[in-house]
Amino acid sequence: MGSASFQDRPPLVSVTPQGLYCRAGNFYIDPWRPVERALVTHAHGDHARSGSQRYLGARVGLGLLQRRLGADAVIDTLEYGEKLTVGDTTVSFHPAGHVLGSAQIRIEHQGEVWVVSGDYKRTPDPTCAPFEVVRCHTFITEATFGLPIYRWDDPRLVAQDILRWWDMNREAGRSAVLFCYALGKAQRLLAELGKLTDRPAFVHGAVNGLVTAYREAGVEMLPTQLVSETEKGTSFAGALVLAPPSAGGSTWMRRFGEAETAFASGWMRVRGNRRRRGFDRGFVLSDHADWPDLLRTVADTQAEKVLVTHGQTDSLSHYLRERGVDASPLATPFEGEAED
Ligand SMILES: [Zn+2]
Ligand SMILES: [Zn+2]
Repeated sequence: MGSASFQDRPPLVSVTPQGLYCRAGNFYIDPWRPVERALVTHAHGDHARSGSQRYLGARVGLGLLQRRLGADAVIDTLEYGEKLTVGDTTVSFHPAGHVLGSAQIRIEHQGEVWVVSGDYKRTPDPTCAPFEVVRCHTFITEATFGLPIYRWDDPRLVAQDILRWWDMNREAGRSAVLFCYALGKAQRLLAELGKLTDRPAFVHGAVNGLVTAYREAGVEMLPTQLVSETEKGTSFAGALVLAPPSAGGSTWMRRFGEAETAFASGWMRVRGNRRRRGFDRGFVLSDHADWPDLLRTVADTQAEKVLVTHGQTDSLSHYLRERGVDASPLATPFEGEAED
């Protein structure tokens, strides 16, 4: 998509105190302060913040956005690929493969195309539409795992490992408490495990409502039971329990008696992280692109310019620049794989 003349124009999207702003369309993308019009890539807390007057998101993620932003939030939606004129721009949402309803936002203005990726991944995920390559002149990419050490295994093999770990604890009469982010990761685990077994799993309250939202969107997962709805004195021996990391070490854990703990996250690629946080096991499973997929995606977009947010912004932009790509970090308060 060659056209060097775009380099002379003011940037289509720039960072302001409120957030990423598109002047030509007079809207913000994932703003961190309340604004008039917010286009949101997905329902994670660092991207979808309440208080704005009007939101626009991908339709399949509406339930999650409403849950995050509150019942009073005014949320318009577009189907993936559907175009809408906003100010002097044309915008559309394209699957990012990150969590249910996650989208890259494509903005076109006088022949120039920018894509804001939000968070994305390329590995298969049964809970959301696969990432779509969108060609553009400027690509704003995340870099949560933008270091060469981060490489993911096939998620189906990770799910088999988790099932073996559950079985091992089951045979020993222990419960298996698997910590994971409540939005996205928990549902992905339940969907992957659902292809391997039909034994029900227990879930923490923070996970449960989001599982319901995924079920309402038609995603198939293991049957689940809310821990707090079990009768007093219920034995959790042999059970698998999914909970957010914040529940670890709390009194909530006492009911499980003898238990092994594990954490499913991209951060578990670094062994020291598991030991430091005191988990018995670590399973490497991320909803973000690994290093090879970040590089592949940047190449696939054919972008002339790349702006890098989230996490390892310096490392990725430096690597790209050394290979002749016009890349630079873009300072935002977006978090990587943080706790949601
Ligand atoms: Zn996210
Ligand atoms: Zn993010």
